[in-house]
Amino acid sequence: MSDRAARLTFLPFSRPALGEEEVRAVVDCLRSGWITTGPRTREFEERFAAYAGARHALAVTSGTAGEHLALLALGIGPGDEVVTSPMTWTSTVNIVELVGARPVFADIEPDTHNLDPAKLRGALTERTRAIIPVHFAGLPCDMDAIGAIASERGIPVIEDAAHAAGAAYRERPVGSLSRLTVFSFHAIKNLTTGEGGMITTDDGALADRIRLLRFHGITRDSWQRQGAGAGAAYDVLVPGFKYNLTDIQSAIGVVQLARLDALNERRESLARRYLDALAGVEEIRLPAAGAGYPVRHAWHLFTILVDVDRLTVDRFGFMEAMKRENIGTGLHFLAVHLQSHYRTRYGYAPGDFPEAERVSERIVSLPLFPGMTEADVDAVARAVKKVVRAHRR
Ligand SMILES: *Cc1c(COP(=O)(O)O)cnc(C)c1O
Repeated sequence: MSDRAARLTFLPFSRPALGEEEVRAVVDCLRSGWITTGPRTREFEERFAAYAGARHALAVTSGTAGEHLALLALGIGPGDEVVTSPMTWTSTVNIVELVGARPVFADIEPDTHNLDPAKLRGALTERTRAIIPVHFAGLPCDMDAIGAIASERGIPVIEDAAHAAGAAYRERPVGSLSRLTVFSFHAIKNLTTGEGGMITTDDGALADRIRLLRFHGITRDSWQRQGAGAGAAYDVLVPGFKYNLTDIQSAIGVVQLARLDALNERRESLARRYLDALAGVEEIRLPAAGAGYPVRHAWHLFTILVDVDRLTVDRFGFMEAMKRENIGTGLHFLAVHLQSHYRTRYGYAPGDFPEAERVSERIVSLPLFPGMTEADVDAVARAVKKVVRAHRR
């Protein structure tokens, strides 16, 4: 059997699912005369809160900004420790560092790549002030197990739900499960506003604090101050940030939120096709499609582990070979504890979190986005098999 030639056109690893409805919503916003935070952001927040089953939803400029405000709202700073997963985007950890606290890692489960509740317990100290589980690829963490450990010790949980818009854990939506949950609307995420983020919480005092810190630390935003009958006065209660989402972005967000379930169903159907097409390829390990508890997986990513011991290329070599087949891939993620800053500052070294390191050396994200066709999935699967065949030991 001869291998087929590479695809004629490049298939990117991700592409946003934006249609005419999003275009119209942005144009309407531009024509309305109000483009920064205002009525569309209010609407996006209200709809998102209802969707996620939370009392409050607060729109911000990014997931990173959301995690920053979540930590600050909880009063976390110097002398405090925050436990998270080493298998995350670096901002989850950077932001802990940036508020002056110490990031502490607990290793991941080998199958789901989520924070391992059994390892979490051992990472807690009397200085732990928050736990940040990351729902890797959109597969929810075992939140009952993590929540039980947290509440035993009175430690708040901030979920990193950057991958998990539309996911559910035991039939409860992600966004309704912990003290605080942070979503990202970056261009590759399941729901996108270009850049953006959302914090959900049931805690009114935390929501007020986040609202304050999100906009200069002043009592009212410009929409509230420019409304009919509103006074022009303002008062700075605390120096705050400039993390408010614009109405141009929220206009996109309102449309994307209405489409989210359908977009995620499309992701799931493509992921199932990958699982079938790649079953039995011994040199790659397929991602977990579920866990030992009921979930609705958001399928943000479709990640495979390349068995580098059985191939003549490493993971980067595999990604290069896929690119020669005209197929883009992604790397989510390199283990954060082995990044230069964290090695230097805390003395981390290979061997500290072996499960995360195993994944970090082998993981590749295959293309997965709602606009892909079944034929695209089949072409990617063929290319994976071709690359594996060409590099078998
Ligand atoms: C994307 C992402 C973030 C950060 O979100 P931004 O909106 O890009 O700031 C945080 N954590 C994880 C796991 C992510 O994938």
